Amino acid sequence: MYHHVKKLMYTVNVGTPDPAFGKMLLEQFGGMNGELAAAMQYSIQGWNCEDAARKDLLMDIGTEELSHLEVVGSLIRMHMKPTKSDRAAAEADPLVAIAGGGGVSLCNSAGVSWTADYLKVTGDLAVDLRSNIAAEARAKIVYDRLINFTEDVGTQEALQFLMTREITHMRSFAAALESMEKPAYSIGTIAPTPALVDEYFNASTGEGDLGKDYVGPWNEGNGLHIVNSKREGGEGLTIKPYKPQPGTEKTSPHDSTPVGANVPSRAKAA
Ligand code: MN
Ligand code: MN
Repeated sequence: MYHHVKKLMYTVNVGTPDPAFGKMLLEQFGGMNGELAAAMQYSIQGWNCEDAARKDLLMDIGTEELSHLEVVGSLIRMHMKPTKSDRAAAEADPLVAIAGGGGVSLCNSAGVSWTADYLKVTGDLAVDLRSNIAAEARAKIVYDRLINFTEDVGTQEALQFLMTREITHMRSFAAALESMEKPAYSIGTIAPTPALVDEYFNASTGEGDLGKDYVGPWNEGNGLHIVNSKREGGEGLTIKPYKPQPGTEKTSPHDSTPVGANVPSRAKAA
């Protein structure tokens, strides 16, 4: 159940309206990393989540994002106000001024309509939480860039508030993922093929304009080792057939009902 409180989560004050900046702010209203996308992504994940505690987390943050949408919308409306009466301001965004009457509409900074295709919802909690950590990182960097492009103190302060909350959310999603107590790379129900899973394929080789073939913890160490292509004189990846073993991946009591794991042919194989 939703209930609207007639008060912004963060009170917005704009000193000098800047329609062109208002247009950039639309990115956080109806853009791919914006507040509506965040609100819908977490809420829909929450409605799908079978674990009561983590469902509560998703609904808490999904609902807070709706409050952020309201704050961003208010900021945009204040910055867009001159488009109602000033020709040059209206030219900053004819879509907002002429079609939208100077208010907010669900589009991004380029006037492209919001789409549910922005949402990442898989119904697997460990996968969804990772998507959410990434979504918060994207929201953070967009606010960071917006702050750098406004001189208006009230706008800077509101954006600083919103940007900070995204980092808080990122920490909560990371803690929730950790609290599932699954091994870091355990996803779904079928364990990956042993040996092959540890092979880093050195697919971009030799010396080029940027220098040598680099080695780092991403290809050597952390359980990984480099495998060179046969065409480069290496061993190549281990391409032996390996029968999938359903039910071998480490799951969590907090996972939702796995999809496919109880299909008779699969269950027999396990
Ligand atoms: Mn937000
Ligand atoms: Mn957030």
